[in-house]
Amino acid sequence: MTNNLLRFTDIGQSYPDKRDASSRKNDFSEIYEDYSNSSALEQASRCSQCGVPFCQIHCPLQNNIPDWLMMTAQGRLKEAYEISASTNNMPEICGRICPQDRLCEGNCVIENGFKSVTIGSVERYLTDNAFKNGWVSPVKPLTIRSQKICIIGAGPGGLAAAEELRKLGYEIDVYDRYDRIGGLLIYGIPNFKLEKSIVERRASLLKDSGINFYLNTEVGKDISFNQLREKYEAVLIATGVYEARDIALPGVGLPNIVPAMTYLTASNRVGLGDKVANFSNGQLDASGKDVVVLGGGDTAMDCVRTATRQGASSVKCVYRRDRTNMPGSLREVKHAEEEGVEFIWLTTPEAYLGQKKIEAIRAVKVRLGSSDSSGRQSPELIANSAHELKCDLAIKAFGFDPEDLKSSFNQPELKVTGWGTISIDFLSKMTSLDGVFAAGDIVRGASLVVWAIRDGRDAALQIHKYVQSKLD
Ligand SMILES: Cc1cc2nc3c(=O)[nH]c(=O)nc-3n(C[C@H](O)[C@H](O)[C@H](O)COP(=O)(O)OP(=O)(O)OC[C@H]3O[C@@H](n4cnc5c(N)ncnc54)[C@H](O)[C@@H]3O)c2cc1C
Repeated sequence: MTNNLLRFTDIGQSYPDKRDASSRKNDFSEIYEDYSNSSALEQASRCSQCGVPFCQIHCPLQNNIPDWLMMTAQGRLKEAYEISASTNNMPEICGRICPQDRLCEGNCVIENGFKSVTIGSVERYLTDNAFKNGWVSPVKPLTIRSQKICIIGAGPGGLAAAEELRKLGYEIDVYDRYDRIGGLLIYGIPNFKLEKSIVERRASLLKDSGINFYLNTEVGKDISFNQLREKYEAVLIATGVYEARDIALPGVGLPNIVPAMTYLTASNRVGLGDKVANFSNGQLDASGKDVVVLGGGDTAMDCVRTATRQGASSVKCVYRRDRTNMPGSLREVKHAEEEGVEFIWLTTPEAYLGQKKIEAIRAVKVRLGSSDSSGRQSPELIANSAHELKCDLAIKAFGFDPEDLKSSFNQPELKVTGWGTISIDFLSKMTSLDGVFAAGDIVRGASLVVWAIRDGRDAALQIHKYVQSKLD
């Protein structure tokens, strides 16, 4: 069978076809086509099965990538899927939206010169193919336990924990203030990266596994945190981070200056067929507008590419550092540039200008000065460089902070870090409150889906240990 592997020497790297920018910017569908069966097998066969698999080491889930690539190359697709799903609750989602260039693929030993194995695309193919063939089935616990666990937040962190605990036989209730399951997978990340039907397919599977969902239920408002603590053996907080960071610039109160999540949620809702207030009256629809997105992270990239698809007249991304120093994925910058987005590097906003609504942004040029304690060069303003950028919709993507759960959950004893994220014990994953655990962005700060899944899985294991220890 080894002749099915190590083919990187004679087979070149080939990602699934990417739709042409001129056509893909007219719709919200995913930009990559699916692999054919033969391309998936061929690309998997490029794996060198190296002795120390850096792809696996650098995957937050430690996915057994070399093994499932080998099975794929040998056409053993069901086994390959099963290995992949054994460490990951959502491989088809990670295959689509993980920054593989920074994780598995970026650390593939054939990355240099020969170009890495296209791990994410093979992962996506494997799980989509498994769904197509009916190999993905709801969880059927071997034992049913009487203990009930509560999970607050139906994002990837909460969902991974819910599934793992269900496998162990617990009764699981998940509460979410949104009306749909998925957290940022549904209302943050746009369709062109992750189609909603993929998230809905996962959500249905979890419902069919017997996990109970209480949607439109905000903990701290519709139900108190203490009620939940009384009712359940253990509680997991997986509420993500949603407080938009802001910069107090003159003119900030003018209409048509919106936070990124408000803008993206509205667009995602419209795509899902919901009616959204303030959409068609112009506040949240970029159609025909000169749009300026402020920020340089992945959220900013999702905003510029959404605005393009809504039919904006022009889309600019203003960021105070340069291309090399931006936090967003360079792959996403490339996609955005192909779709016609203009990047204005080394520039920072100084004021929003306008009478009845925003009409322009006054910006200044910046140079990168000496490095700060983290090693990043600090931006310094350049004198007399102020200029105006025409703008009738400004989208602020400055990042996110956690909400103040100590007060919204009325838990003064809940220990938080200096950043406001929940502080947990490194090993037990428990917060300062007995029987209360936390996972995902609310612990790490804004991070990645794959880390939320990892945290959810780790928390599930610790919750199991905790509940069992109480029975001894
Ligand atoms: C625009 C955008 C694009 C992104 N793109 C990517 C990407 O391409 N790749 C990637 O890996 N990561 C991406 N991320 C990051 C990723 O989405 C998050 O790291 C991940 O979703 C965190 O998972 P979580 O379960 O911790 O939280 P979330 O996904 O935020 O889920 C938290 C859930 O908790 C619910 N909740 C909050 N408070 C309460 C309450 N009081 N009561 C009840 N429910 C509550 C929320 O409604 C939500 O459903 C992106 C983030 C954003 C904002």
